Formats: sequence, structure tokens, C-alpha cells
Amino acid sequence: MTPSTPQKPTVAIVGGGIAGLSAGIFGRINGFDTTIYETNGKLGGVCSGWERSGYNVNGSVHWLVGSAPGNDLYELWKQLGVIEGNTFYNHDAFVEFRDLESGPLRLDTDADRLEKTLLDRAPEDRELILKFTEGIRIMARSDFPLDRSFELLNPWDWTKILFREFPAIRTMAHWGSMSLGDFAQLFKNRDLRTVFQHFWTPEMNVAFLMMQFGYASAGSAGYPLGGSAALIERLEHRYRTLEGKVALQSRVSKIAIHNGRAQGIQLSDGTEIEADFVVTACDGHSVLYSMLDPEWIDPEVFTAYEILKPFPSLNFFSAGFRSTFQGYRPSIAGLNVALTETLELGRYAHPRTAFNIFTFDPTLAPSGRTLVTAMLDADYDYWDELYRREPRLYQAERERVARVLIDSLDRTFPDTAPSLDFADLATPLTYRNWTGNHKGSYEGWLPTPEAMKLQIPTHFTRLKGLYMAGHWVAPGGGMPPAAYTGRDAIQLICRDLGRIFDFVEQI
Ligand SMILES: Cc1cc2nc3c(=O)[nH]c(=O)nc-3n(C[C@H](O)[C@H](O)[C@H](O)COP(=O)(O)OP(=O)(O)OC[C@H]3O[C@@H](n4cnc5c(N)ncnc54)[C@H](O)[C@@H]3O)c2cc1C
Repeated sequence: MTPSTPQKPTVAIVGGGIAGLSAGIFGRINGFDTTIYETNGKLGGVCSGWERSGYNVNGSVHWLVGSAPGNDLYELWKQLGVIEGNTFYNHDAFVEFRDLESGPLRLDTDADRLEKTLLDRAPEDRELILKFTEGIRIMARSDFPLDRSFELLNPWDWTKILFREFPAIRTMAHWGSMSLGDFAQLFKNRDLRTVFQHFWTPEMNVAFLMMQFGYASAGSAGYPLGGSAALIERLEHRYRTLEGKVALQSRVSKIAIHNGRAQGIQLSDGTEIEADFVVTACDGHSVLYSMLDPEWIDPEVFTAYEILKPFPSLNFFSAGFRSTFQGYRPSIAGLNVALTETLELGRYAHPRTAFNIFTFDPTLAPSGRTLVTAMLDADYDYWDELYRREPRLYQAERERVARVLIDSLDRTFPDTAPSLDFADLATPLTYRNWTGNHKGSYEGWLPTPEAMKLQIPTHFTRLKGLYMAGHWVAPGGGMPPAAYTGRDAIQLICRDLGRIFDFVEQI
């Protein structure tokens, strides 16, 4: 503890997404005086929901890893107030593909059923299929400790992890070095090539997909009813109950530094705010390239930012239909179908997409109606250039994409198009403007094979008192890393103050 550090140190948290809220909650549990500075008029960041024509649009969560007991992430969500009283919907399938050569293919979350389905469709790919499902089973059994910042693990902890988790570590090392796109090409069967090529972003590594299947097969990747808005409400409620402070519409422009120590923040209107510690829980690029001077940052951090690839941005389609989609069987990633025409949008061409048809969450739509969404990887530069050239062209392109998606859905479920209540298409500019994330990325760094070899520092050797959290410090991104990196930041502050970190409030 430095001589000047008070008993109840102040922590300024930059950004009120999941990472910022987690830092705030654990900061309050540990007796810090915390304030979240959020540029928007509400909390949530990427994980947002909004009202549209009587629908509650779920702008993010499809599956929450750690939704069931038996792993550290469940304990984390419990401490954050997300579990108690919440209802999770557990899908029996990860995704369903239609418009394949040999008929539809539904990929179960259960590894045995999944294996059987894949073998029935492609006996010629037996060896590869068995390796894939073996990887899923290994990941389902693994139990990496996620209750502490990796920095706080000692050599004895690491030795135990290496012994206990050897199969998972070997699986990650092997399959982590192959992209999903390359994996898809190994299949002789054309349908399986299509499935793995279009499952998710093809640049991500195979181990990451095995891990997601692993959590789903263990029943710990449920969907929280109420979607993103309800999830954030729970976190906000927990934080406010702990008397955490929030400053909305407060854009942070600089980190104030004195004698090699972060001493507070400056807002874009010039207001200066003192703090004993600063936790950034916002876009990593903005922190490194705009809020801080380069002299404070270790060179390997810039190297990581040059090597890693961000998750692309999105075209996020949302629509409401006066239909209950009778007979539809939901799954985590939805129904993947061929589009009525390939959407060529800058460097992306989409011959197919997956529709999330929320028949399983009645809170998202008025009675007898259904919210439908779709996520298409999107080229930031393409949409940015279109908007700069002519906003009318940008608008027309949004409408064209939405039309193709509505028509494609109508082909799959005849006569849905006339029952449309509303349709909307968010673009990379929406994500940039709303969240400030670099090039509108929706999940930080892609878990590419290169990302497996890198660790991103969350604080710097020449600068004390500043800690980074959020999906930009944990490749693969998503809600769990956002939540645990927010907590890790407070754990590191406690370590630096020589205090014991508490997971729950001491009454
Ligand atoms: C359509 C979609 C589906 C998804 N599905 C899932 C899923 O099923 N499961 C899953 O785990 N993850 C999912 N994700 C990803 C997940 O939502 C994000 O990775 C996670 O919410 C990121 O949280 P964060 O706090 O790290 O960052 P952010 O949400 O980006 O929060 C950063 C906050 O900082 C604020 N901010 C930025 N700059 C400043 C500044 N200068 N001053 C003050 N405030 C600032 C922003 O406004 C924002 O509120 C999905 C995302 C999308 C878009």
C-alpha cells in the first residue's frame, strides 16, 4: 500500500459494459469507492437490448457459458447476481443446417448424438469426425481454474493444472493451431464442408469451437430468458444495490498520469476526475492509441495489437413477425439456410446465414409474435466508405440486405413476409457509434491460431495504478471473459495494495 492510499480507495472505471459492471461489483464488494464512467445514456455496451414496435430486441446473448453449476464461471455469474431467480433455456442442438445436398442436418449439443448424426451423413469422414467429437468430450470434462487472474497463479498451481488438464491442453495446442476454414476443407463430404465453413467466422480456431460445444454438451451454455436487456438489468441491479456509482453520458478522453502513476481521468468536456486507480473496460485501441501516451506502454502490447485480428463487425438483422413459426425447433445458433441470393458486401460474400428464431423466449415479443435475428460478419471499411460517399446509398444497401434476409426466411417458412411488423439492419457504423469498439468489432480479438500463442498484458511495467479489462484483453472475447477480466482487475488492485480479495461481500 502506498503511503498516500486511503482506506477506501477510489476506482474510476471507464466503460459500463459487462466488464465495467463486473469491475464495479467486485470493487464494491472489496470496499472500494467505484464510479463507472459510461459514454452512452445507458449501461450494457455490446450486450444491449432495445424496444422496437413492441418487441424487445435481444442484441447480444445467445448462450451464456457458465449457466449451470460445476465450473468457476457459474460461481462468477452467481457472484455477479446473474444466476439467482433467472431461467435458462437449454437447447438440445447447437445449430441446424438446411439447404444441404443430402437434406437438413441438426447438430446436437450431446456429443454422442452429434457423433452419430455426422457419421450417418459422412461415413467417409469417420476419422475426422471421431477426432472432433473426442475434442468436444475432452473440453467438456476440462476444468481450467477461472477464479483468479492467471497472474496470481503460482508455479505449484500451474504444475497441478498441467497434470490435471493435460488432455485439454494437448487438444488446445493441436486444434488451436488450425482454423475452422482449413478444418472444413479436410472433409470429403460436401455437406460437412459447407457446415464447418459456415458455422462461424472461418478464421477462428477449431479448439475454440470444441470448447463451446464442450460447455453446451455439459449443459452449461444456456440462454437467459429476457435476453441482453434483462441480463444487464441484473448486473446493474447488483451494482447499484452495492451502492456503486454511475456517471452516464461521460466520455473519457484521457488517463491522467503523474510520476508514472494513473491518478484519474479526463472527460471529453475537459472535466478532470481524481482516482487512486483506473480500470479501463472499453475499446482497447482507444486506451492505447488515444487515452495514453505511447511512452507508458510496453512495446509487446503494440506488437500483439499488430499481430492479432479483431472479430469482424456485424450486420445485425432484427425483425418481428406475426407468426409463431409452428414446427420450428430452436437451437443455440439458430437455423442456417441458403439465401435467395449471395450477399456480396465488401470483402464478405454470404451465400447463407443463420436465423435466430426466438420462439423459446416469449418475453421478446407480444403474444402470437416472434422476434427473429441474424448476424452476418461485416466489412467495416465497406460500410464506412458507402456512408461517406453517399448516405442514401448506405441506406439503400441496408434495405437491400434486409429484403434478401426477409425473402430467404419467407422461402424457408412460406408466407412469413406478409406478417412482418418491423425489420432493421445494424451496420458496423452502428457498433462503432454505440460501443466505440475498434472498427465496430462485436467481440474483441478473434481466437485465431496466432492468438493461441499470445498473452495480452493488462497492465504495464512503467505505469502503475492502471488495469485493462474487457473483451480486448482475452482473445475469443464474449461475456465470460468480459466478466472475469473485470474481476481480475480488482484482484490485481487488491494484490498491489496487499489486501485479501473477497468474492462475496463480508457482512
Ligand atoms: C449480436 C451479438 C451476439 C453475441 N452473442 C454472444 C453470446 O451469445 N455469448 C457471449 O458470451 N457473447 C456474445 N457476444 C459478445 C459479448 O456481448 C461481448 O463480447 C461483451 O458484451 C463485451 O463486453 P465488454 O464490457 O468487454 O465491452 P463493451 O460491451 O464494448 O463495453 C464497453 C463500454 O465502454 C463504453 N465506452 C467506450 N469508450 C468509452 C469512453 N471513451 N468513455 C466512457 N465509456 C466508453 C462503451 O459505450 C461500452 O458501454 C455477442 C455480441 C453480439 C453483438
